[in-house]
This record gives sequence, structure tokens and C-alpha cells, in this order.
Amino acid sequence: MEEMDYENRIVAPEYTYRDEEIDVSLRPKTLDEYIGQDKVKDNLSIYIRAAAMRHEALDHVLLYGPPGLGKTTLSGIIANELGVNFRVTSGPAIEKAGDLAAILSSLSEGDVLFIDEIHRMPRAVEEILYPAMEDFSLDIILGKGPSAQSIRLNLPHFTLIGATTRSGQLTAPLRDRFGVLLRLELYTPEQLAQIVTRSAGILGIEIDKSGALEVASRSRGTPRIANRLLKRVRDIAQIEFDGIITEEVAMKALERFEIDELGLDDFDRTMLKTIINNYNGGPVGLETLAAAIGEESITIEDVYEPYLMQIGFLVRTSRGRCVTDAAYNHLGIKKTGQQTIF
Ligand code: ADP
Repeated sequence: MEEMDYENRIVAPEYTYRDEEIDVSLRPKTLDEYIGQDKVKDNLSIYIRAAAMRHEALDHVLLYGPPGLGKTTLSGIIANELGVNFRVTSGPAIEKAGDLAAILSSLSEGDVLFIDEIHRMPRAVEEILYPAMEDFSLDIILGKGPSAQSIRLNLPHFTLIGATTRSGQLTAPLRDRFGVLLRLELYTPEQLAQIVTRSAGILGIEIDKSGALEVASRSRGTPRIANRLLKRVRDIAQIEFDGIITEEVAMKALERFEIDELGLDDFDRTMLKTIINNYNGGPVGLETLAAAIGEESITIEDVYEPYLMQIGFLVRTSRGRCVTDAAYNHLGIKKTGQQTIF
């Protein structure tokens, strides 16, 4: 099989350094500016107002959902709405217990500490978090061996916001310490079109309604991808057209990137075709599939599958993954032989 260039996948929902410049200016700063996720926003605005009324720190919040859906953005908004400092770190960046102890002891009363990919924190670091989350205290061991002493330091009341792709990736003791668990959903094309229109306004890009919807429909339910595609389409609109993004311009540009009208790229098509050609449409186990396409199973679960399932191209059964009739039709492949019909 052809070697695939995962690093440069335009529709990869993960953050890349190229997103940096657009991220800063495009991130909404208030709940009102944050489009979609209405249930999550309704809940949060009640918790935020209640905490503010009681002059207390907000309960610890766990946000989970696929990458690029706005977990970091929402956490910044929470801090902003509470009027407190926003500190950002990530699970893999905290290597030692002492690193986390240093961060925790530098917080002020009510601050929001955001830990991205919290499931990737080393175990020894995670254990520091338990008393910190529960009792706002930090246990420090001084010295070594029999003369070692443990002292307990008080921490300011802070709010931890953890982000992860799936809540099931967290250990039970950590998950249990979050008072609020919120799941972010993939966005609808209409919501993404609003996000694209808003971003275009900020970046000074001319785009019409149908152009925005076209970009949105190919963004796999993910704002980060929508913003990235908008920028790429703008380049083509400027060089090859008159600069305005219409439906036609968006379609032509996205075809160039080999992103089809549903936002599927080569990676998705390869995965679906592998299930069809090698496993007769499924069921195929996750590990087997991962080995066949040369991708990590966790990436398949967190990055590819949520969207393919949302559009009804893939189903998970107890026996493995199966491709649906809709996917066969979309790929223009005829079903052959005996197959399970869904
Ligand atoms: P995550 O932390 O879940 O990976 P981010 O918070 O970094 O995602 O969001 C990615 C980008 O998408 C941000 O630059 C932000 O501008 C945009 N974005 C995310 N959610 C929304 C939203 N609800 N409304 C508008 N823009 C959004």
C-alpha cells in the first residue's frame, strides 16, 4: 500500500503548528460568541453564575470529545466569564510530580487550570492531583529514606478543567473527582457555516452564504478543520478567482485538495475500502484494521471513526467495524457475495 502522509493531512482534526496564527484571533472569548454545543453552554452558564454568586471556585470540569471541537476554547471562555486567570498545560508536558506541584502552588484563588490530554499524565503526577482536587492541598515529601517527612501545604481553591478525547481513557479515581462531565459533539454543517462566516469576517475574507456552507459541509463536524479549510480556500480564491469564496470556488478548491463533498479524504477512503476489499465490508476488529492500514488503533477510534459514524458510513458492532450501504454507494462500489445488511 502507498505510504500515507499523516503529518500533512489537511482534514486532520489535531492541532498543528500551522494553526497557531489563526487560532489566536479566531477563538471566541465569551459563551455568546461560542457557536453550537447548546446543552453544554446552558449547563455551564448556570454553573458559572452559581459559582460567581457564591464567590466560590467552579467545580472541576471534564470536557471530552474528538480533537478540534473547541475544548481549549471553551475552557478559556470559562476563565474569562469567571474573571479569573487561565493557565494552560497538557498531560504529556507534565513529566514529574514536582512540575505539577510547581504549577499548582503558583495558582491564585479561583484560577482555572486547563490540562489538555489529561489522560496522558504519568501516574505519579496524577496522584498529586487527587488531594489537590479534593481538599486543595499538596502533600510534599521532604528528604529521603527513614528520615523523610511529609508536609501538607494548602492550595488556593482553583478549578481544574481536564480535556480528553474519551472519558473512558481516564482512571476511575481521576474521573470521579470531576464534579462536571461534559461531552462535546461534532457540529452540524449549519453551525460550522456560522463559524466559517464569523472567521471570514475576522480575517477579512469575502465569502457568500453558499460558499460558507460548502466549506462547512466538508469539515467533518470540526471547527478546527473548518477554519483551516477556509484559509486554504482563500488562497486559491485569490490566486485563481476574484478573491470571493462562492460555492463554485469552494468546490473547485476543495476538489484540488482531494476532499470530497462529505469531507472525506484519501485516508478515510483507504480505510473504508480496506474494510470492503479485505474484509468483505466487515465486521473487522479494530486491531486488525489498524494493522491493515498502518495506523494506531487509538487514532482510528478518536479521529476517523466519530465522523464516519456520524454520517452513517461505519457502524461498531460487538464483532467489529462494518461499512454500511451508504458508504458503498458513496464510494461507487457494488456489493458482492454474502454480506450482512444494515
Ligand atoms: P480542542 O481543544 O477541542 O482541540 P480548540 O478549542 O483548540 O479545540 O478549537 C479549535 C479551533 O476551532 C479554535 O481555533 C477555535 O477558533 C475554533 N472553535 C472551536 N469551537 C468553536 C465554536 N464553538 N465556535 C467558534 N469557533 C470555535
